[in-house]
Amino acid sequence: MLAEFRRETRDDEGQLGLPHHRGESDRSVGFEMEAVDLAQGLRDAGELQAIDSALRRLRDGSFGRCADCGDAIDPERLRAEPAALRCAACQRRHERRHPPA
Ligand SMILES: [Zn+2]
Repeated sequence: MLAEFRRETRDDEGQLGLPHHRGESDRSVGFEMEAVDLAQGLRDAGELQAIDSALRRLRDGSFGRCADCGDAIDPERLRAEPAALRCAACQRRHERRHPPA
C-alpha cells in the first residue's frame, strides 16, 4: 500500500502538491502546508484511522514529533509514512516491546 501511495503521489504531483522535497534549506519552510497535503494524500489512500490521528496531531501541533521522545521525526520518514507516530529509533524500540501478532 505504501508503494502504491508513492507511485500515486508521483503520478499525481499536481493534486497532492508535495513541495520542496529535497532541498535542505526548504526543510522547515512550508512544512505545515506539506503536512496537510500529506494528510490529504492519506485520505485519498483510504487510511481513515491514520488520517484521523494525523489530523488530530496537526491540530494540536504534535504532527512530526515523536510520541515517545518528542524529537522531530525525520522528514524523509514522514514522507514515506505520513502517519508515523514515532521517530525511527523509538519505533524500533516500540516494535521490540510490542511485536506484531
Ligand atoms: Zn523518538
